[in-house]
Amino acid sequence: MDVRQDRDPHGRRTLAQALVALVVAVVWLGAAALLWRTEVPQLSLPDLDPRSYFTEAEIERSEDYRRGSRALFLGGLAAELLVLAALVWQARPLAARVGRIVGGRVRRAVLLGAAVVVTLWGVGLPFSAATHVRRVDHGLSEQGWGGWLRDQAVSLGVRAVLVGIAVAGAVWLAARLGRRWWLAGAPALVAVATVVVLAQPLVISPLFNRFEPLTDRALAAEIEELAAGMGVDVEDVLVADASRRTTTANAYVSGIGPTRRVVLYDTLLDGRFTRGEIVSVSAHELAHVGERHLWKGLAWFALLAVPGVALLAWLTERWGGLRDPALVPLGLAFVVVYMLATQPLANAVSRRYEAEADWLALQATGDPESAVELERRFVTTSLSDPTPPAWVTYWLGTHPPPLERIAMAATAGGTRPAPGGS
Ligand SMILES: [Zn+2]
Repeated sequence: MDVRQDRDPHGRRTLAQALVALVVAVVWLGAAALLWRTEVPQLSLPDLDPRSYFTEAEIERSEDYRRGSRALFLGGLAAELLVLAALVWQARPLAARVGRIVGGRVRRAVLLGAAVVVTLWGVGLPFSAATHVRRVDHGLSEQGWGGWLRDQAVSLGVRAVLVGIAVAGAVWLAARLGRRWWLAGAPALVAVATVVVLAQPLVISPLFNRFEPLTDRALAAEIEELAAGMGVDVEDVLVADASRRTTTANAYVSGIGPTRRVVLYDTLLDGRFTRGEIVSVSAHELAHVGERHLWKGLAWFALLAVPGVALLAWLTERWGGLRDPALVPLGLAFVVVYMLATQPLANAVSRRYEAEADWLALQATGDPESAVELERRFVTTSLSDPTPPAWVTYWLGTHPPPLERIAMAATAGGTRPAPGGS
């Protein structure tokens, strides 16, 4: 009886916890399943031969460039992880030294976080410099060292500010709320991420580029008409002075709600791309806006951030909790590892949304030939690998491999959609 009375409340608590965990898991999976859906029909894409679209020399040049880039990327990542491990190892003496410079828990934590960010930046700098040399050598960039260094410094500043805000918030909450701080910390992180996405076009992007309205009135009218046909409401189509640092062409969407915009690189408009190709890429970007991919991206961020912050709280609790500034390097190391671990899922989602934008753009333009030629030209002007190794796509691929995108366009060219179908 006594034993039972001892065990019963405990049994009830574990049952309640199991039920909460089950409900959370069902909600998580339900949300993920809803977000995973796209308007792309079941397609059996043909297995194309890259040699039908690219010359042997083009394939060789792209593969050679990408092999080197990947080696530099992996080398930089390995170096940063090693140094990060060393910083975690030496966190106590580091924290003691920081404690002699500034007082106060949050200020110490922020200074320690900034030290980690600056150190990792320094470790990665030679790899970034080597990447820059290769980009210039391969004609992908005409940027000088001055501009390059300025870019590096500005991105370091942006990263330090964002990490500083996150560290200050986490340590402050952990000190006030104890081990359950993550219940407030995770929603706060999602709120901050939403503000960053909202403010990015107004605050962060102008640090790197100037933006002008599209001066080609005929093209602007064509894109407006395209948007109206797709039922997409977007106020601004802007041109960025991307040519200050690259010869490659691209376009993107940024911002949400009142700040949403489509941005075309000025390199897209320098005469190398036909009108049909520019319209194709614009339709792709408009599809991102129409399908609210940035909002969905934020929803995925929330799905990954909540368990991530909970795991961070659980892990740091083993050593006394994140209220201790000396655990900031461990916390940041966890965030890096967690991001690497969840990157395959995040990229699978990204590839799905990119395929959806491709598909809807093909429906809107009805011009698969331009879409194929656009993809072909992206590969030859950006030296992307038309058929990257599977592990590269799985781990790093934010877009479907170029040949797969060509296959979709080729398939869309053969099958006319039913009228009124989307
Ligand atoms: Zn896209």
